[in-house]
Amino acid sequence: MSSNPRIGFVSLGCPKALVDTERILSQLQAEGYSTASDYQGSDLVVVNTCGFLDSAREESLEAIGEALTENGQVVVTGCLGTEAELIRAAHPNVLAITGPHQYEAVVSAIHEILPPPHDPFMNLIPPQGIKLTPKHYAYLKISEGCNHQCSFCIIPQLRGNLVSRLAGDVLREAEELVKSGVQELLIISQDTSAYGVDVHYAKSQWRNRTITTRMTELCTALGELGVWIRLHYVYPYPHVDELLSLMKEQKLLPYLDVPFQHASDRLLRAMKRPAAEARTLERIHEWRRQVPNLTIRSTFIVGFPGETENDFEFLLNWLKEAELDRVGCFRYEAVDGAAANQLENAVPEELKEERWHRLMEVQQKISTKRLQEKIGQEIQVIIDEIRENEAIGRSEGDAPEIDGKVLLTGNAFNVGDIVRARVEKAGPYDLWATCAL
Ligand code: SF4
Repeated sequence: MSSNPRIGFVSLGCPKALVDTERILSQLQAEGYSTASDYQGSDLVVVNTCGFLDSAREESLEAIGEALTENGQVVVTGCLGTEAELIRAAHPNVLAITGPHQYEAVVSAIHEILPPPHDPFMNLIPPQGIKLTPKHYAYLKISEGCNHQCSFCIIPQLRGNLVSRLAGDVLREAEELVKSGVQELLIISQDTSAYGVDVHYAKSQWRNRTITTRMTELCTALGELGVWIRLHYVYPYPHVDELLSLMKEQKLLPYLDVPFQHASDRLLRAMKRPAAEARTLERIHEWRRQVPNLTIRSTFIVGFPGETENDFEFLLNWLKEAELDRVGCFRYEAVDGAAANQLENAVPEELKEERWHRLMEVQQKISTKRLQEKIGQEIQVIIDEIRENEAIGRSEGDAPEIDGKVLLTGNAFNVGDIVRARVEKAGPYDLWATCAL
């Protein structure tokens, strides 16, 4: 394979198909691919098909056959791509098939077959991209935007509706990060559980196989990379239960960041929260029954308009029963443009403050108890920082920046090492441990 892979194009059909071809070409050229004008000079041929009339379908099948005979490496896209079975029946050796307007899917299939060139003198950006996090962990964004309309939030107005990245693209980025030394991937989005809904769970290629753009399938594939995979912003939709078996197999960290925001049904409806109807306490108990070492982190809002003392008491009792491991709490803020600002019965600032303190006090006792239960246990710790006579790390239950730390005596570690340690002591947020060699 040449260092700059050459792609040949056969573009059939209407001007819309031609524009699709132009878009695919532009993307590929921007990534450093070359184009070729004949079959012999191409490393791979893309056939953009038409499926409008029978004659056009026939012509498309013939064009695919010709490209296979003349070159052998063929990716099919365009209107006839919606009839993958027909194409496979006629030409079983095509490498990938995508439908019309699936630019990302075509490019993703090409990446899989002929990885984009990387020239360190031409590309100022390393293959894994520019990262602002330490070398041993990285955030991996799987989608942008959000389809919900929570009344306190303006993110959908700012960032638009959900746009999921294809699983193949996410996995390739994850692989580059792992190659560059990353030991922990933090999966982020606005709504991780909704991943892939917008692209109808489109299929894409990774490691010579087809992966569905859906949370469980993505996590299953990420679990093959052999690094810590931590999920953030998971809403408790039913399919979240599918993740538990991956946690049991240690493919996924036993950690879920679920932004519950409140427990009162009435307030959750006023907040227009996704999965507000979920029977969350039952779910939490069942998750823990299946994965006893599961850490659950969440965030809550106190002082949302209309929150009564009863609602707040309900939340405190819910927290006592749920025994979440990590909790962040915000006092409601009237963000400009948020629908909740129109709601009646705003909660006075001093009452928000009082509720915030009460919630934090309740939660601190819960967190302390949860951490005390770890004393004497052996845990895994990823090392974040080395100091004179100690190392600072995090357990599987601690995300960077937002959760606690594990303080380890000794300094015979390297940043990014994952070591086994025995927990000796626990505070409300942090653990103290010694290395168990
Ligand atoms: S708070 Fe609600 S609307 Fe805002 S990003 Fe999260 S799920 Fe979407």
